[in-house]
Amino acid sequence: MLLIVGSIAIDSIQTPWGRAQELLGGSATYAALAARLWTRVAMVGVVGSDFPAQYLKLFRKHQIDGEGLYQVPGRTFRWKGRYDETGRATTLFLDLGVFSGFQPRLTPALRRVKYAFLGNIHPTLQWQVLRQLTAPRITACDSREDWIGNQRRGFLKLLKKVDLVFLNDSEARLLTGVHSLTQATRLLARLGPRVAIVKKGEHGVLAASRDAFFSLPGFPVSRVVDPTGAGDAFAGACLGFLTTQRRITWLALCQAIQYASSVASMTIEAFGPARLLTATKADTLRRTKAFQSLTRAVVL
Ligand code: AMP
Repeated sequence: MLLIVGSIAIDSIQTPWGRAQELLGGSATYAALAARLWTRVAMVGVVGSDFPAQYLKLFRKHQIDGEGLYQVPGRTFRWKGRYDETGRATTLFLDLGVFSGFQPRLTPALRRVKYAFLGNIHPTLQWQVLRQLTAPRITACDSREDWIGNQRRGFLKLLKKVDLVFLNDSEARLLTGVHSLTQATRLLARLGPRVAIVKKGEHGVLAASRDAFFSLPGFPVSRVVDPTGAGDAFAGACLGFLTTQRRITWLALCQAIQYASSVASMTIEAFGPARLLTATKADTLRRTKAFQSLTRAVVL
């Protein structure tokens, strides 16, 4: 089972191609909907009394375990964002709502999970969850410019304790202070985690450990509708795939990255999590096969 903590939100999104209000969103939501294609998922987080019952039903329908998911009086986390043509997001409004006072206490069963994704939310909350795990096999974290900017020390402390870190290009640059993404990825892998993964949107992804490096282009998507959650879905799919591996080798990680890139490319083809909600394992395998045929090297 993969435990996922992160925001569970109601999003309003504007992109150059349209806008949508009051969508199901949040980093944990996207990661969970992607990871469930490979493994059982337990979501840890909190929603307010205004959280639509139909969204809770959707989680149940997709077999997402709600043992660590609380509904309390108050407002759900809300995010309003605008994307430009390059996929860059600007936060127009953010209200942590019930997340601001949330102190997660994991049940004994959740403390024993072997895989955990500390999705993008306040680093203190990520840390509180990590501390409660008794014997994790793989832990990973993500963040956002808002947290790296305001909670830098907390995030750097977290990095010392996780196996994998997922960041996008601007987050990696902000954290390392280095412009070259190749250098920044290598540097991140020296700040604590065994592997650093830096996502570059349509330009693909880089991964580094202390002694290995991997680069994959993006799957070419001609009709991007909404980039929200692509990074979270990427991380969820990557970790979901890794939970199925007996030995976590560098090759397994590279395979996980290719599956994750395929799932991320599907996520952006519809507003909010709509495409992820209908995605099946067969869809992702088909997309990954198509991706592999595009990236196979030609040797003359
Ligand atoms: P991304 O695609 O990585 O930008 O993630 C988008 C999701 O992250 C949206 O569904 C938002 O609800 C959520 N989100 C936006 N800002 C934050 C934040 N500061 N902390 C946690 N989640 C956030």
